[in-house]
Amino acid sequence: MARLCDTNLCSGCTACAAACPHDCITMVQDPEGFRRPKVDTVRCVECGLCAKVCPVLSAPDTHPIPDAFAARNKDNSVRELSTSGGVFTLLARHTLEQGGAVFGAAYDADFKVEHRMVETPEMLTTFRGAKYAQSDLGDTFRRVKEQLALGRKVLFSGTPCQVAGLRSYLGKEDPNLLLVDLVCHGVPSPAVWERYLAYKSEQISDGHRPITVNLRCKDSGWSTYSVDIRWPYGRNYLASNRQDPYIRAFVGDLCLRPSCHRCSCKGLTRCADITLGDYWGVWDQVPSMSDNKGTSIVLVHSEKALALWQELAPAMQTQQVDARRCMEQNPAALQSAKYDEENRSTFLHRYRDEDFSALVDELLPKPNAAGDLALRMAGKLKRLLKF
Ligand SMILES: Cc1cc2nc3c(=O)[nH]c(=O)nc-3n(C[C@H](O)[C@H](O)[C@H](O)COP(=O)(O)OP(=O)(O)OC[C@H]3O[C@@H](n4cnc5c(N)ncnc54)[C@H](O)[C@@H]3O)c2cc1C
Ligand code: SF4
Ligand code: SF4
Ligand code: SF4
Repeated sequence: MARLCDTNLCSGCTACAAACPHDCITMVQDPEGFRRPKVDTVRCVECGLCAKVCPVLSAPDTHPIPDAFAARNKDNSVRELSTSGGVFTLLARHTLEQGGAVFGAAYDADFKVEHRMVETPEMLTTFRGAKYAQSDLGDTFRRVKEQLALGRKVLFSGTPCQVAGLRSYLGKEDPNLLLVDLVCHGVPSPAVWERYLAYKSEQISDGHRPITVNLRCKDSGWSTYSVDIRWPYGRNYLASNRQDPYIRAFVGDLCLRPSCHRCSCKGLTRCADITLGDYWGVWDQVPSMSDNKGTSIVLVHSEKALALWQELAPAMQTQQVDARRCMEQNPAALQSAKYDEENRSTFLHRYRDEDFSALVDELLPKPNAAGDLALRMAGKLKRLLKF
């Protein structure tokens, strides 16, 4: 029978399922809401291909220590709607201009997170903004392979474990493929995300489906981002990251995938061509690039990526920085999320049936309400001024 990696280390990257020549592996939701490979042992012919491509069993080669940059897209309208400095949009646009295809994570009509392929600049906006739930990759890896076989340029962006999975599945370097990963704290369960959205919708809009969701609204500042959800009939929800129970559960490690607590993709050296993250600490390290509207930290790993970086430089403000130092205030780049077994399992056993906010309040330290009020006032003022 197929021997896949330890359940607690499996990131759900789908490489095994994509590689199986007999389609014996399906990704099914486990009780915590994460997708996991399930092998049809009757049809399995024990060829071992699934184990061969598993990036946990055999990690793909990594590039040498990268060059690191603080970067901001010069187009402020893009930066405003992007999570950090808006660098992803520049990379993606460049791929499209070459007639290529871009794969990234977007919300579907019900705000579930899924990977999809985009071929027009207008559709790139669906990728903008971090979505804090593990995305459903579906058959993305096979689609990437198909596009490469057609000779097209492809940009694939995702979490480091998704990128490692794709790299292992494809087996060899392809000059037409650009792999973009993220500094990654971890991914919450899609089931927890669904429950939170239903809970908020019930609380604020009689259960209506939201119209827009932005988990990284910058109206009150990039480093002090807020959650902004809007429903029909003018019903809105705006809360700072320190108050919102979903962001607290995410950052407080209550609902991450088990593999995020023992992640095999941390570190400065990676198999991705480029790594993007928030440059937390830019205010101390490169004050001239700090305006609280979003600055990216960019690790450029491969020669292919360095050439592209130089080509795109005129569209950005950039400054080279020390690769180790720039991650000093961003532990997620190098270390796995803390594992508090008791808190995590209490949360995952109770969140479906209990008041979401009250449960988070019970399990995590209370945020500072006065600070939050000031942030919300600043956000409201900015909106009024814009109006
Ligand atoms: C789950 C998650 C955790 C993160 N944790 C950290 C962290 O701890 N520290 C840090 O510095 N940065 C973290 N980031 C990365 C950071 O928030 C930005 O996404 C990154 O800096 C890109 O910013 P941008 O302005 O260039 O891109 P944007 O234009 O905002 O693009 C966002 C990019 O993220 C991808 N993406 C969005 N949601 C998901 C998802 N659920 N799964 C896979 N890919 C997704 C999109 O495809 C797109 O490529 C995290 C991102 C995610 C999705
Ligand atoms: S061993 Fe071969 S046939 Fe069996 S699940 Fe793995 S890839 Fe499929
Ligand atoms: S290939 Fe990916 S999904 Fe399959 S077992 Fe390994 S980590 Fe899990
Ligand atoms: S922390 Fe590691 S295992 Fe978890 S989503 Fe990020 S890259 Fe994958």
